[in-house]
Amino acid sequence: MPTTYPKSQHVLVLNSGSSSLKFAIIDANNGHEIISGLAERLGGEAPSIKYKYNGAKTTIDLKANQAHEEAINTLVTLIKTHKLDEHLIAVGHRVVHGGENFIKSILIDEDVISGITQAATLAPLHGHANLLGISSAKTSFKGLPQIAVFDTAFHQTMDEVAYLYALPYKLYTDFGVRRYGFHGTSHCYVAEQAAQLLNQPLEQSNFISAHLGNGCSVCAIKNGKSVDTSMGLTPLAGLIMGMRSGDIDPGLFNFLTTQLNYSAQQIDDLLNQESGLLGISGLSNDCRTIEEASLNGNQRATLALDMFCYRLSKQIAAYMVPLQRLDAVIFTGGIGENSDLIRKKVISQLAFLGIDCDEQANLNARLGQQGIISSEKARIKAIVMPTNEEWVIANDAANIVKEL
Ligand code: ADP
Repeated sequence: MPTTYPKSQHVLVLNSGSSSLKFAIIDANNGHEIISGLAERLGGEAPSIKYKYNGAKTTIDLKANQAHEEAINTLVTLIKTHKLDEHLIAVGHRVVHGGENFIKSILIDEDVISGITQAATLAPLHGHANLLGISSAKTSFKGLPQIAVFDTAFHQTMDEVAYLYALPYKLYTDFGVRRYGFHGTSHCYVAEQAAQLLNQPLEQSNFISAHLGNGCSVCAIKNGKSVDTSMGLTPLAGLIMGMRSGDIDPGLFNFLTTQLNYSAQQIDDLLNQESGLLGISGLSNDCRTIEEASLNGNQRATLALDMFCYRLSKQIAAYMVPLQRLDAVIFTGGIGENSDLIRKKVISQLAFLGIDCDEQANLNARLGQQGIISSEKARIKAIVMPTNEEWVIANDAANIVKEL
Protein backbone atom coordinates (compact mmCIF):
# COMPACT_ATOMS: atom_id res chain seq x y z
CA MET A 1 0.00 0.00 0.00
CA PRO A 2 1.46 3.37 -0.91
CA THR A 3 2.62 4.99 2.33
CA THR A 4 3.04 8.73 2.76
CA TYR A 5 6.41 10.41 3.13
CA PRO A 6 7.31 13.77 4.61
CA LYS A 7 9.06 15.26 1.57
CA SER A 8 9.29 14.75 -2.18
CA GLN A 9 10.70 11.33 -3.02
CA HIS A 10 10.88 10.99 -6.75
CA VAL A 11 11.52 7.64 -8.37
CA LEU A 12 12.34 7.08 -12.02
CA VAL A 13 10.23 4.09 -13.07
CA LEU A 14 11.48 2.16 -16.10
CA ASN A 15 9.54 -0.49 -17.98
CA SER A 16 11.81 -1.91 -20.61
CA GLY A 17 10.36 -3.95 -23.49
CA SER A 18 12.17 -5.58 -26.40
CA SER A 19 11.84 -2.51 -28.63
CA SER A 20 10.35 0.02 -26.23
CA LEU A 21 11.05 1.78 -22.97
CA LYS A 22 8.26 3.30 -20.90
CA PHE A 23 9.40 5.76 -18.28
CA ALA A 24 7.95 8.03 -15.64
CA ILE A 25 9.13 10.00 -12.66
CA ILE A 26 6.66 9.40 -9.86
CA ASP A 27 6.43 11.07 -6.47
CA ALA A 28 6.29 8.10 -4.09
CA ASN A 29 4.39 10.31 -1.60
CA ASN A 30 1.25 10.56 -3.63
CA GLY A 31 1.69 8.83 -6.99
CA HIS A 32 1.92 12.19 -8.75
CA GLU A 33 3.47 11.85 -12.20
CA ILE A 34 6.13 14.48 -12.86
CA ILE A 35 7.08 13.36 -16.38
CA SER A 36 6.17 10.30 -18.41
CA GLY A 37 7.00 8.98 -21.83
CA LEU A 38 7.65 6.16 -24.20
CA ALA A 39 10.67 5.39 -26.36
CA GLU A 40 9.56 3.13 -29.19
CA ARG A 41 10.84 1.30 -32.25
CA LEU A 42 14.19 1.01 -30.45
CA GLY A 43 16.81 -0.69 -32.62
CA GLY A 44 14.65 -0.02 -35.68
CA GLU A 45 14.71 2.46 -38.54
CA ALA A 46 12.98 5.39 -36.87
CA PRO A 47 13.21 5.21 -33.09
CA SER A 48 11.75 8.10 -31.13
CA ILE A 49 10.91 9.27 -27.63
CA LYS A 50 7.56 10.87 -26.86
CA TYR A 51 7.09 12.45 -23.48
CA LYS A 52 4.66 14.52 -21.49
CA TYR A 53 5.91 17.20 -19.11
CA ASN A 54 4.00 20.13 -17.60
CA GLY A 55 1.00 19.37 -19.81
CA ALA A 56 3.01 19.60 -23.05
CA LYS A 57 3.73 16.67 -25.34
CA THR A 58 7.13 16.51 -27.11
CA THR A 59 8.74 14.06 -29.52
CA ILE A 60 12.49 13.52 -29.85
CA ASP A 61 13.73 11.54 -32.86
CA LEU A 62 16.60 9.17 -32.23
CA LYS A 63 19.03 8.01 -34.92
CA ALA A 64 18.28 4.82 -36.86
CA ASN A 65 19.21 1.66 -34.91
CA GLN A 66 19.65 3.52 -31.63
CA ALA A 67 18.33 1.40 -28.80
CA HIS A 68 17.89 1.25 -25.00
CA GLU A 69 21.25 2.72 -24.06
CA GLU A 70 20.81 5.79 -26.27
CA ALA A 71 17.20 6.16 -25.15
CA ILE A 72 18.31 6.18 -21.52
CA ASN A 73 21.13 8.64 -22.31
CA THR A 74 18.59 10.96 -23.93
CA LEU A 75 16.37 10.52 -20.90
CA VAL A 76 19.25 11.52 -18.61
CA THR A 77 19.76 14.72 -20.63
CA LEU A 78 16.04 15.40 -20.49
CA ILE A 79 15.96 14.91 -16.73
CA LYS A 80 18.98 17.17 -16.19
CA THR A 81 17.66 19.87 -18.54
CA HIS A 82 14.42 20.10 -16.59
CA LYS A 83 16.29 19.75 -13.25
CA LEU A 84 14.22 16.70 -12.40
CA ASP A 85 17.14 14.91 -10.74
CA GLU A 86 16.98 17.03 -7.57
CA HIS A 87 14.54 14.80 -5.70
CA LEU A 88 15.38 11.56 -7.47
CA ILE A 89 16.08 8.87 -4.86
CA ALA A 90 16.02 5.66 -6.93
CA VAL A 91 15.35 3.95 -10.22
CA GLY A 92 12.59 1.33 -10.07
CA HIS A 93 12.58 -1.32 -12.78
CA ARG A 94 9.54 -3.34 -13.75
CA VAL A 95 10.94 -6.83 -14.26
CA VAL A 96 8.55 -9.20 -16.00
CA HIS A 97 9.92 -12.55 -14.87
CA GLY A 98 11.47 -13.22 -11.50
CA GLY A 99 11.03 -17.00 -11.68
CA GLU A 100 11.06 -18.59 -8.23
CA ASN A 101 14.01 -16.46 -7.14
CA PHE A 102 12.09 -13.36 -6.10
CA ILE A 103 9.09 -13.08 -3.83
CA LYS A 104 9.27 -9.32 -3.36
CA SER A 105 10.90 -6.17 -4.68
CA ILE A 106 14.63 -5.97 -4.07
CA LEU A 107 17.70 -3.72 -4.33
CA ILE A 108 19.62 -4.74 -7.45
CA ASP A 109 23.13 -6.09 -6.89
CA GLU A 110 25.21 -8.66 -8.75
CA ASP A 111 23.33 -11.60 -7.17
CA VAL A 112 19.99 -10.09 -8.21
CA ILE A 113 21.26 -9.58 -11.74
CA SER A 114 22.30 -13.21 -11.95
CA GLY A 115 18.86 -14.26 -10.57
CA ILE A 116 17.11 -12.14 -13.22
CA THR A 117 19.44 -13.56 -15.88
CA GLN A 118 18.53 -17.08 -14.77
CA ALA A 119 14.79 -16.29 -14.84
CA ALA A 120 15.22 -14.71 -18.27
CA THR A 121 15.58 -18.18 -19.80
CA LEU A 122 11.82 -18.51 -19.13
CA ALA A 123 10.97 -15.27 -20.96
CA PRO A 124 13.97 -14.44 -23.14
CA LEU A 125 12.49 -11.45 -24.97
CA HIS A 126 11.28 -9.65 -21.85
CA GLY A 127 14.19 -10.79 -19.68
CA HIS A 128 16.82 -9.56 -22.08
CA ALA A 129 15.08 -6.17 -22.39
CA ASN A 130 14.82 -5.83 -18.60
CA LEU A 131 18.52 -6.59 -18.18
CA LEU A 132 19.40 -4.07 -20.87
CA GLY A 133 17.31 -1.43 -19.08
CA ILE A 134 19.02 -2.18 -15.78
CA SER A 135 22.56 -2.07 -17.15
CA SER A 136 21.92 1.15 -19.08
CA ALA A 137 20.35 2.80 -16.03
CA LYS A 138 23.21 1.67 -13.79
CA THR A 139 25.68 3.40 -16.09
CA SER A 140 23.62 6.53 -16.55
CA PHE A 141 22.38 7.00 -12.99
CA LYS A 142 25.53 6.17 -11.04
CA GLY A 143 24.99 6.41 -7.32
CA LEU A 144 21.21 5.98 -7.47
CA PRO A 145 19.91 2.73 -5.97
CA GLN A 146 18.28 0.48 -8.58
CA ILE A 147 15.27 -1.54 -7.43
CA ALA A 148 13.66 -4.48 -9.23
CA VAL A 149 9.89 -4.97 -8.94
CA PHE A 150 8.67 -8.27 -10.35
CA ASP A 151 5.42 -9.03 -12.17
CA THR A 152 5.62 -12.58 -10.87
CA ALA A 153 6.42 -11.89 -7.20
CA PHE A 154 2.84 -11.52 -5.89
CA HIS A 155 1.95 -14.99 -7.23
CA GLN A 156 4.76 -16.77 -5.41
CA THR A 157 2.28 -17.58 -2.62
CA MET A 158 0.49 -20.09 -4.91
CA ASP A 159 0.48 -23.70 -3.77
CA GLU A 160 2.09 -26.34 -5.99
CA VAL A 161 -1.36 -27.82 -6.63
CA ALA A 162 -2.17 -24.55 -8.40
CA TYR A 163 1.16 -23.82 -10.06
CA LEU A 164 2.29 -27.20 -11.38
CA TYR A 165 1.45 -28.43 -14.86
CA ALA A 166 0.57 -32.10 -15.30
CA LEU A 167 3.81 -32.70 -17.18
CA PRO A 168 6.76 -34.92 -16.26
CA TYR A 169 7.83 -33.55 -12.85
CA LYS A 170 11.44 -33.29 -14.04
CA LEU A 171 10.51 -30.39 -16.32
CA TYR A 172 9.67 -28.46 -13.17
CA THR A 173 12.61 -29.54 -11.01
CA ASP A 174 15.24 -29.24 -13.74
CA PHE A 175 13.94 -26.38 -15.86
CA GLY A 176 11.43 -24.46 -13.76
CA VAL A 177 8.47 -25.22 -16.04
CA ARG A 178 5.40 -24.18 -14.00
CA ARG A 179 2.72 -21.51 -13.78
CA TYR A 180 4.21 -18.21 -12.57
CA GLY A 181 1.53 -15.65 -13.37
CA PHE A 182 2.03 -11.97 -14.24
CA HIS A 183 0.39 -8.56 -13.58
CA GLY A 184 1.22 -9.25 -9.90
CA THR A 185 1.90 -5.59 -9.11
CA SER A 186 -1.52 -4.64 -10.42
CA HIS A 187 -3.45 -7.48 -8.75
CA CYS A 188 -1.75 -6.70 -5.44
CA TYR A 189 -2.43 -2.96 -5.67
CA VAL A 190 -6.11 -3.21 -6.60
CA ALA A 191 -6.70 -5.80 -3.86
CA GLU A 192 -5.22 -3.42 -1.26
CA GLN A 193 -7.30 -0.55 -2.58
CA ALA A 194 -10.48 -2.64 -2.70
CA ALA A 195 -10.01 -3.73 0.91
CA GLN A 196 -9.70 -0.06 1.86
CA LEU A 197 -12.79 0.82 -0.13
CA LEU A 198 -14.78 -1.91 1.61
CA ASN A 199 -13.25 -0.91 4.92
CA GLN A 200 -12.09 -4.41 5.79
CA PRO A 201 -8.62 -5.87 6.51
CA LEU A 202 -6.84 -7.15 3.41
CA GLU A 203 -5.73 -10.22 5.41
CA GLN A 204 -9.37 -11.23 5.74
CA SER A 205 -10.43 -10.36 2.20
CA ASN A 206 -11.16 -12.75 -0.65
CA PHE A 207 -11.15 -11.16 -4.10
CA ILE A 208 -11.02 -12.13 -7.73
CA SER A 209 -9.29 -9.39 -9.66
CA ALA A 210 -9.55 -9.12 -13.43
CA HIS A 211 -6.74 -7.07 -14.99
CA LEU A 212 -8.04 -6.39 -18.50
CA GLY A 213 -5.65 -4.37 -20.65
CA ASN A 214 -3.87 -5.41 -23.84
CA GLY A 215 -2.83 -8.41 -21.78
CA CYS A 216 -5.53 -9.89 -19.53
CA SER A 217 -5.35 -12.03 -16.42
CA VAL A 218 -7.49 -13.03 -13.46
CA CYS A 219 -6.15 -13.63 -9.97
CA ALA A 220 -7.78 -15.45 -7.05
CA ILE A 221 -6.79 -13.66 -3.86
CA LYS A 222 -7.44 -15.42 -0.56
CA ASN A 223 -6.86 -13.53 2.69
CA GLY A 224 -4.90 -10.96 0.69
CA LYS A 225 -2.61 -13.49 -1.02
CA SER A 226 -2.56 -14.81 -4.58
CA VAL A 227 -3.67 -18.45 -4.63
CA ASP A 228 -4.20 -18.88 -8.36
CA THR A 229 -3.92 -16.89 -11.56
CA SER A 230 -4.72 -17.41 -15.20
CA MET A 231 -1.39 -16.60 -16.87
CA GLY A 232 1.19 -19.36 -16.78
CA LEU A 233 4.83 -20.00 -17.62
CA THR A 234 4.40 -17.05 -19.98
CA PRO A 235 1.80 -14.26 -20.32
CA LEU A 236 0.15 -16.15 -23.20
CA ALA A 237 -2.01 -18.42 -21.06
CA GLY A 238 -5.54 -17.96 -19.74
CA LEU A 239 -7.99 -15.35 -20.96
CA ILE A 240 -8.61 -14.12 -24.48
CA MET A 241 -6.56 -10.91 -24.89
CA GLY A 242 -6.11 -8.19 -27.51
CA MET A 243 -3.82 -10.22 -29.74
CA ARG A 244 -3.09 -13.31 -27.61
CA SER A 245 -5.15 -16.47 -27.81
CA GLY A 246 -5.08 -17.36 -24.11
CA ASP A 247 -5.65 -21.07 -23.42
CA ILE A 248 -5.77 -23.37 -26.42
CA ASP A 249 -5.45 -27.11 -26.90
CA PRO A 250 -1.67 -27.75 -26.97
CA GLY A 251 -2.41 -30.39 -29.62
CA LEU A 252 -2.79 -27.42 -31.98
CA PHE A 253 1.02 -27.23 -32.13
CA ASN A 254 1.23 -30.66 -33.77
CA PHE A 255 -1.59 -29.87 -36.18
CA LEU A 256 0.00 -26.61 -37.29
CA THR A 257 3.47 -28.13 -37.77
CA THR A 258 2.50 -31.38 -39.47
CA GLN A 259 -0.54 -30.28 -41.49
CA LEU A 260 0.22 -26.63 -42.22
CA ASN A 261 4.02 -26.61 -42.06
CA TYR A 262 4.22 -23.87 -39.43
CA SER A 263 7.58 -23.22 -37.79
CA ALA A 264 7.86 -22.73 -34.02
CA GLN A 265 8.35 -18.98 -34.61
CA GLN A 266 5.26 -18.78 -36.81
CA ILE A 267 3.18 -20.50 -34.14
CA ASP A 268 4.53 -18.14 -31.52
CA ASP A 269 3.62 -15.15 -33.70
CA LEU A 270 0.18 -16.61 -34.45
CA LEU A 271 -0.66 -17.11 -30.78
CA ASN A 272 0.87 -13.86 -29.51
CA GLN A 273 0.18 -11.36 -32.26
CA GLU A 274 -2.57 -12.58 -34.57
CA SER A 275 -5.09 -14.12 -32.20
CA GLY A 276 -7.40 -12.89 -29.42
CA LEU A 277 -9.88 -10.09 -30.16
CA LEU A 278 -7.92 -9.29 -33.32
CA GLY A 279 -7.96 -12.86 -34.61
CA ILE A 280 -11.66 -13.43 -34.02
CA SER A 281 -12.92 -10.05 -35.20
CA GLY A 282 -10.43 -9.65 -38.06
CA LEU A 283 -10.63 -5.95 -37.20
CA SER A 284 -8.48 -4.82 -34.32
CA ASN A 285 -6.99 -5.73 -30.97
CA ASP A 286 -8.44 -2.52 -29.52
CA CYS A 287 -11.53 -3.15 -27.45
CA ARG A 288 -13.00 0.28 -28.27
CA THR A 289 -12.91 -0.46 -32.00
CA ILE A 290 -14.51 -3.86 -31.45
CA GLU A 291 -17.27 -2.42 -29.26
CA GLU A 292 -18.03 0.26 -31.83
CA ALA A 293 -18.11 -2.26 -34.70
CA SER A 294 -20.37 -4.53 -32.69
CA LEU A 295 -22.78 -1.63 -32.04
CA ASN A 296 -22.80 -1.04 -35.79
CA GLY A 297 -23.84 -4.63 -36.43
CA ASN A 298 -20.50 -6.33 -37.16
CA GLN A 299 -21.16 -9.94 -36.18
CA ARG A 300 -17.54 -11.02 -35.83
CA ALA A 301 -16.95 -8.10 -33.47
CA THR A 302 -19.95 -9.21 -31.40
CA LEU A 303 -18.63 -12.78 -31.42
CA ALA A 304 -15.21 -11.57 -30.22
CA LEU A 305 -16.80 -9.67 -27.33
CA ASP A 306 -19.06 -12.60 -26.43
CA MET A 307 -16.12 -15.01 -26.40
CA PHE A 308 -14.00 -12.58 -24.37
CA CYS A 309 -16.73 -12.25 -21.74
CA TYR A 310 -17.60 -15.95 -21.68
CA ARG A 311 -14.01 -17.01 -21.06
CA LEU A 312 -13.55 -14.33 -18.42
CA SER A 313 -16.76 -15.29 -16.58
CA LYS A 314 -15.84 -18.97 -16.71
CA GLN A 315 -12.41 -18.24 -15.22
CA ILE A 316 -13.88 -16.10 -12.44
CA ALA A 317 -16.43 -18.81 -11.57
CA ALA A 318 -13.66 -21.44 -11.51
CA TYR A 319 -11.82 -19.48 -8.83
CA MET A 320 -14.67 -20.06 -6.41
CA VAL A 321 -13.01 -23.47 -5.89
CA PRO A 322 -9.84 -22.16 -4.21
CA LEU A 323 -11.66 -19.23 -2.57
CA GLN A 324 -14.96 -20.83 -1.42
CA ARG A 325 -16.04 -17.41 -0.13
CA LEU A 326 -15.79 -14.25 -2.21
CA ASP A 327 -16.06 -10.60 -1.11
CA ALA A 328 -15.72 -8.88 -4.47
CA VAL A 329 -14.81 -9.12 -8.12
CA ILE A 330 -12.46 -6.27 -9.06
CA PHE A 331 -12.22 -4.88 -12.60
CA THR A 332 -9.07 -3.01 -13.61
CA GLY A 333 -6.82 -2.21 -16.64
CA GLY A 334 -7.92 -0.19 -19.68
CA ILE A 335 -10.90 -2.46 -20.43
CA GLY A 336 -11.83 -3.22 -16.82
CA GLU A 337 -11.76 0.46 -15.87
CA ASN A 338 -13.63 1.76 -18.91
CA SER A 339 -15.84 -0.81 -20.56
CA ASP A 340 -19.24 -0.75 -18.87
CA LEU A 341 -20.42 -3.14 -21.58
CA ILE A 342 -17.93 -5.89 -20.75
CA ARG A 343 -18.42 -5.45 -16.99
CA LYS A 344 -22.18 -5.73 -17.39
CA LYS A 345 -21.99 -8.85 -19.59
CA VAL A 346 -19.57 -10.61 -17.23
CA ILE A 347 -21.50 -9.73 -14.10
CA SER A 348 -24.79 -10.93 -15.63
CA GLN A 349 -23.18 -14.29 -16.46
CA LEU A 350 -22.07 -14.58 -12.83
CA ALA A 351 -25.44 -13.62 -11.31
CA PHE A 352 -25.86 -17.12 -9.87
CA LEU A 353 -23.02 -16.32 -7.44
CA GLY A 354 -25.02 -13.48 -5.89
CA ILE A 355 -23.30 -10.62 -7.72
CA ASP A 356 -25.19 -7.92 -9.62
CA CYS A 357 -24.63 -4.69 -11.47
CA ASP A 358 -26.16 -1.30 -10.65
CA GLU A 359 -26.81 0.16 -14.10
CA GLN A 360 -26.05 3.78 -13.20
CA ALA A 361 -23.05 3.05 -10.98
CA ASN A 362 -21.61 0.91 -13.78
CA LEU A 363 -22.04 3.70 -16.32
CA ASN A 364 -20.52 6.23 -13.94
CA ALA A 365 -17.37 4.19 -13.23
CA ARG A 366 -14.93 5.17 -15.95
CA LEU A 367 -11.94 7.37 -16.67
CA GLY A 368 -9.97 6.57 -13.58
CA GLN A 369 -12.93 6.57 -11.20
CA GLN A 370 -13.06 3.88 -8.56
CA GLY A 371 -16.28 2.58 -7.12
CA ILE A 372 -18.64 -0.18 -6.18
CA ILE A 373 -20.88 -0.95 -9.15
CA SER A 374 -23.05 -3.65 -7.55
CA SER A 375 -26.29 -2.90 -5.71
CA GLU A 376 -26.68 -2.70 -1.92
CA LYS A 377 -28.23 -6.15 -1.82
CA ALA A 378 -25.46 -7.96 -3.71
CA ARG A 379 -23.83 -10.73 -1.66
CA ILE A 380 -20.65 -10.33 -3.70
CA LYS A 381 -19.60 -6.81 -4.63
CA ALA A 382 -18.40 -5.70 -8.05
CA ILE A 383 -15.70 -3.03 -7.90
CA VAL A 384 -13.98 -0.89 -10.51
CA MET A 385 -10.49 -0.01 -9.31
CA PRO A 386 -7.98 1.90 -11.47
CA THR A 387 -4.58 0.27 -11.29
CA ASN A 388 -1.36 2.21 -10.77
CA GLU A 389 1.63 -0.04 -11.31
CA GLU A 390 4.05 2.89 -11.57
CA TRP A 391 3.10 4.11 -8.10
CA VAL A 392 3.60 0.65 -6.61
CA ILE A 393 7.05 0.48 -8.20
CA ALA A 394 7.92 3.97 -6.92
CA ASN A 395 6.57 3.15 -3.49
CA ASP A 396 8.45 -0.17 -3.21
CA ALA A 397 11.64 1.59 -4.32
CA ALA A 398 11.16 4.39 -1.74
CA ASN A 399 10.52 1.83 1.02
CA ILE A 400 13.69 -0.09 0.15
CA VAL A 401 15.77 3.12 -0.02
CA LYS A 402 14.47 4.10 3.42
CA GLU A 403 16.00 0.93 4.87
CA LEU A 404 19.46 1.41 3.28
P1 ADP B 1 -1.79 -2.05 -21.40
O1 ADP B 1 -2.06 -3.47 -21.07
O2 ADP B 1 -0.97 -1.87 -22.63
O3 ADP B 1 -1.35 -1.21 -20.22
P2 ADP B 1 -4.34 -0.70 -21.07
O4 ADP B 1 -4.50 -1.16 -19.66
O5 ADP B 1 -4.20 0.74 -21.32
O6 ADP B 1 -3.21 -1.48 -21.85
O7 ADP B 1 -5.65 -1.22 -21.86
C1 ADP B 1 -5.79 -1.10 -23.23
C2 ADP B 1 -7.16 -1.64 -23.61
O8 ADP B 1 -8.17 -0.87 -22.95
C3 ADP B 1 -7.45 -1.53 -25.11
O9 ADP B 1 -8.04 -2.72 -25.59
C4 ADP B 1 -8.45 -0.40 -25.15
O10 ADP B 1 -9.33 -0.53 -26.25
C5 ADP B 1 -9.20 -0.62 -23.87
N1 ADP B 1 -10.01 0.58 -23.51
C6 ADP B 1 -9.58 1.80 -23.16
N2 ADP B 1 -10.64 2.65 -23.01
C7 ADP B 1 -11.75 1.92 -23.28
C8 ADP B 1 -13.15 2.21 -23.31
N3 ADP B 1 -13.61 3.42 -23.03
N4 ADP B 1 -13.99 1.21 -23.62
C9 ADP B 1 -13.54 -0.03 -23.91
N5 ADP B 1 -12.23 -0.36 -23.89
C10 ADP B 1 -11.35 0.59 -23.60
